[in-house]
Amino acid sequence: MIQITRIDKPEILISKEEKWKSTLEIALSEFLLNKSTSKRKKLDLAYSKYKHKQIKDSLRRMFSDKCAYCESHISHIGFGHIEHFHPKSKFPDLCYDWDNLMLSCEICNGKEYKGDKFPESYESGPLINPVEENPDDFFYFEYDPYVGVANVIPKNNNKRAITTEEVLGLNRSELVKHRSYIVTIMAFAALKAKQGDEEGKEIIKKCCGNENEYAAFARALVKRFKIE
Ligand SMILES: [Zn+2]
Repeated sequence: MIQITRIDKPEILISKEEKWKSTLEIALSEFLLNKSTSKRKKLDLAYSKYKHKQIKDSLRRMFSDKCAYCESHISHIGFGHIEHFHPKSKFPDLCYDWDNLMLSCEICNGKEYKGDKFPESYESGPLINPVEENPDDFFYFEYDPYVGVANVIPKNNNKRAITTEEVLGLNRSELVKHRSYIVTIMAFAALKAKQGDEEGKEIIKKCCGNENEYAAFARALVKRFKIE
């Protein structure tokens, strides 16, 4: 997870946000009075407006087509989700709020992991928000060269960091397997760079860019090996 700067709100939200919000409010109150199939359909249609292509394109650009949470590339394996940091089911008012929207992979945002969970402070939440906070303040992005494993470790037993790691499954086995493979190559480049190899230096520096998978780990290696 790396810190991401929010880009400008897409035009479609500037022009439609208020209208969509009031349509959703009406659909929601109508549905609560009469939970019929047609009211449900109307409500689903109102909710779905956030899926507008312009919004997704903006989020793809903002997050360099990577998941906001696990930093995996998205488009070559799936469509990705427009993720509501505050879940829309619990915070319908924030359904089209630009500051609440992220891009995530289908697994981090799936039911097994974040889904519509929003741990409150009494539940050791809220989750770390990579747009509003610097994940480096909460996690070590640690590579163990002896076993070749790259893990996300909560810093100083920080409760919110522990909750975030658990809820998002930041060390789920399939993710760790793929991430460790990539980070092992990064570590090799970082080691070369430390020994003065220019090509190694170029490679590890490139891996630190926002657009690269698991840039948090590349940055941690650069720091650890004191690569200038
Ligand atoms: Zn993810």
